[in-house]
Parts: sequence; C-alpha cells; structure tokens
Amino acid sequence: MRLFAHRRPKPSRLTHSVALAETIAAVATPPGRGGIGVVRVSGPNTAEIAITLLGSLPSPRVATYQAFRDAQGHPIDAGIALFFPRPNSFTGEDVLELQGHGGPVVMDMVLNSVVAAGARIARPGEFSERAFLNNKLDLAQAEAIADLIDSHTEQAARGALRSLHGDFSSAIHDLVDSLIELRGFVEAALDFPDEEIDFLADDTVAQRLRALRERLDGVLDSARQGSLLREGLSIVIAGRPNAGKSSLLNRLAATDIAIVTELPGTTRDVLRQDIQIDGMPLRVIDVAGLREGADAAEREGVRRAWLEIEAADLILLVVDGACGVQAQEQGILGRLPARTPVVTVWNKIDLGDTLAGERDGVVYVSALTGAGLDALREALKKHAGFNASPEGVYLARRRHLQALQSAGLALARAQDVLSSQRAGELLAEELRAAQQALVAITGEFTSDDLLGRIFSRFCIGK
Ligand code: GDP
Repeated sequence: MRLFAHRRPKPSRLTHSVALAETIAAVATPPGRGGIGVVRVSGPNTAEIAITLLGSLPSPRVATYQAFRDAQGHPIDAGIALFFPRPNSFTGEDVLELQGHGGPVVMDMVLNSVVAAGARIARPGEFSERAFLNNKLDLAQAEAIADLIDSHTEQAARGALRSLHGDFSSAIHDLVDSLIELRGFVEAALDFPDEEIDFLADDTVAQRLRALRERLDGVLDSARQGSLLREGLSIVIAGRPNAGKSSLLNRLAATDIAIVTELPGTTRDVLRQDIQIDGMPLRVIDVAGLREGADAAEREGVRRAWLEIEAADLILLVVDGACGVQAQEQGILGRLPARTPVVTVWNKIDLGDTLAGERDGVVYVSALTGAGLDALREALKKHAGFNASPEGVYLARRRHLQALQSAGLALARAQDVLSSQRAGELLAEELRAAQQALVAITGEFTSDDLLGRIFSRFCIGK
C-alpha cells in the first residue's frame, strides 16, 4: 500500500519540539462500554510506562496477553499489549497500545496508571499532530484521518482514504514541482538579463504556465467534488403553505419525518433531514410555509424560515401545481437572496395532465405519487455541481479549496503579467505566491495557529 509513500515535507516548527518531549496518553476507543477498549501511549517515556504497568517491555509489534498493574503492583485489568518502537509507529515515537476490557471505569483506571507512570492526557488530535510533526503524514493526510472517521457516506469514506493514501498530496506535490521548475526558468531570465535570448519572450514560459493552470483546474475540480462529498449541501424547501413541502421532504428522505396535513401552516418548527444522492450528503430543511402567519407561533416559524433561507446553499421553491405561480410565489421569489440558486419545483402534477421531468429549469413532480422525483434528484446534483463518478475524487476541505483557488488566481495574474507587461519580477512574485498557497495544503509552511485549529477539531485519542 502506498500509505505513506510520498515525499516528506522538511521538518520545521521547532516550537513544537518542547511539547514532543512529553509522553501523551488517551483512550482511543469511543466512550461507553464495549468488548475492548484501547489506551494509547506515545512519547519518550513509553517504554518506562510499559515496564511499570506490564512488568517488562513487550517484544516490538508482537501481541502479548498480560496483566495491567497500577504503580503499587495491583492488577487493574488484563489484555493485549502492543509496543511499536520509534520510528516505525503511527506517531513516529515509541507507542504502546493497551487493549483492555472496554468499560469506562476500567479504561479510566488503566489511563490513570499510565499517567501516574509518566504520561499526560493527550489533547484532541495530538497523536495525529505528532505523526505530522514527525513527518509520518503531511497535513492533508492527517486531516483525511479525521474525515475518514467522520464520513457520512461510503463515497466520502473512499475519498478520505484516497487522501490518506497520499493521492491528493501527490497531486499537490506534482503541481509544486512544476511550479518550482517554472520559477527556475523565470529566475534564470532575471539573473541573466543580458542574455541574447529573452526567456520571457520565448513561448516556453507561456506554454508551461498554461499547462500548469489546466492541471491546477483539474485538481481543483476533483477537490471541489470531494468537498461536496465531505460538507454536503444545505437545501431549504420553501413555498406557500400546503404546496407540498413536507410531502416532498418525506419523498426525498424516503421516510415520514414531516407531518403532512391538509391544514395550511402545519410545519412551524424547522425540520432537518440528512439524505444522500449518489453519495452526496444533503441536509434538507423544511420550514414553515411563507405567509403572513395567523398566530404568534406561525409568525415565529416564518421568521425562522427566512433565517434558514438566508443560510441555504440551494433553495427549492415548491409551487402548488393546483394554484400555479401567483402573487405569493412572486413575493417569495423577490425576497430570496440573489446569491443563492433556486430550483423551482412544480408539485401536484397528478391533479392535471402535466408530464413529470425537468423543462426550462422547472422540475415537475408529484410528491404524492413520486413521479418526477428522479428528475429532481438529477437537478439537485446538477445545481450542486456534483457528478457522481467518485473515481479520483479526494475528500477535500474548504481550506484546501481556498488554497487551490488562491494558487489559481496567482497563476492567472502571472499569465496576465507575462502577456501584457513581460515583467519578470512580478511574474516570479506571482509564481512564488502560487507555490506558497499550494504548500499550505500539505503543511510545509503552515502557521502554528492554523495547525492548532485543525488538530483541535479531532477527537481525543486520534
Ligand atoms: P406543506 O404545507 O407545503 O408542507 O404541504 P404538505 O406536504 O403538508 O401537503 C399539503 C397537502 O397537499 C396534503 O394534503 C398533501 O397530501 C397534499 N399533497 C402534497 N403533495 C401532493 C401531490 O403531489 N399531489 C396531490 N394530489 N396532493 C399533494
């Protein structure tokens, strides 16, 4: 497996070396009761801690069944001990795994004994952070661990695994390599201004720059799909009361989560349901029908509905096919945020002879019979920009997209500088900026602040 088989970033961030001198420990399995619970230990005191708890140091990477004892020699549990000497461990440090019985009290006792023997409790994500600081993983790979554990769909998990294998990092490294080559070329032109050949006038630089932008766009595309798989999309179903919004939510969710009645104004609370279409997670939000509410509760429902609409990625405007688009729908349309795409869904086609499907940007459905629902799912994917072939998709985060986008902008400016001004210095500067943006993804040059923020969102024991 190519798990960790890409080039390592150079060691940096000396500020962390102090923290690395400490030995950390945490329960790595989820809280609660289970057949097995694992306490993980990493750092310089690990061997000493193993000897205190187990009486001797287990052979490297050999599962040994042993009693776990506290500092006074009293048995606290018995289970499997595994010792991974550095550097061949997850964190790159000496690591001990104690697989005991998975009850909260037992785990607490094992953890307390480990702490008494010379460790401190790990912060969230600290094991992964150490793996990163010891160059076992780059930053994108470390993030992929958290994303793999948190994935909501199978496709998201596959994408995360691809990123963990280093596919995303390799794509970034390839871009960076090409950039470095191009910078070398441009900087040579700057260093030898008297050369007869004007490197910048030569089409080579322009050609390489174009090729680089195309490749960057390819990676960005794939990362964008990955980000949709990871973050999903929030969709608000809006429309007048009784248009069939709750029925549509139930259809999309394939369960009866929303109450459907003939009485207008039934939905007052905001209902949320997570669904997926071909692996793309969607959070569908059903809100109160948008009308001047008759009572205080409904008015509050409508107020909350508008708050959800403001925050939505996409709005489904459900039109009651029995009434058509009237002043009420026009009024709603006029108030929808201009930046948010709107899909108009014409519901209740079973009452007339309208055909199901999408025409001229309107999707004709019947929430009652299910007709047109496939067309609606397709329309949702299209508006989200999602194409359901997850091959080659890396699970990416917004942070990665932003970095790729700013690298793209720098390259666009570089091309502009090259064609309009032939200004070598400015060109070199833009290429440098693009490189800087890209290496932040894999963490070669990432601020300690950002690292802290990324790893603190991991859970304990990761
Ligand atoms: P909401 O107020 O917009 O959430 O609308 P509901 O989903 O509660 O539906 C209002 C009424 O319209 C209910 O009596 C539903 O059974 C009915 N309804 C919803 N969708 C359809 C449809 O496609 N065809 C028909 N004939 N009735 C529907």
